Amino acid sequence: MTTDDCLFCRIVSGEIPTELVAESEHTIAFRDINPAAPVHILIVPKRHEPNIGALADASSADLADTFALIARVAQQEGVAENHRLVFNTGRDGGQTIFHVHGHILGGKVFTER
Ligand code: AMP
Ligand code: ZN
Repeated sequence: MTTDDCLFCRIVSGEIPTELVAESEHTIAFRDINPAAPVHILIVPKRHEPNIGALADASSADLADTFALIARVAQQEGVAENHRLVFNTGRDGGQTIFHVHGHILGGKVFTER
């Protein structure tokens, strides 16, 4: 996987348009195209790494920036106290786009584990 054929790298570079919900130095946030909850935001580090563990290994600054933007977006969307944060990792974990991203899901009651 190179950044040329990575959908999220193409969104980060502006080649594919999206409506940004928030942006910081190392991270962007935009709405999921196929929302699974009333609030469904993707938090996408600008750096191409396949998953959150690889990002943690590569750059603690980028990792910290990712979580700072998660907190800011959750606040902005009114779900800071009630949301689910998901990083699907690997095919068996349900990951379909292999550029690290977190899902902020909120605005509904989650009962399933
Ligand atoms: P995952 O299954 O964890 O890899 O999540 C990938 C997510 O990206 C899915 O929830 C998709 O609905 C979402 N997605 C795919 N393409 C786009 C896009 N162009 N803009 C916003 N979200 C997208
Ligand atoms: Zn990428």
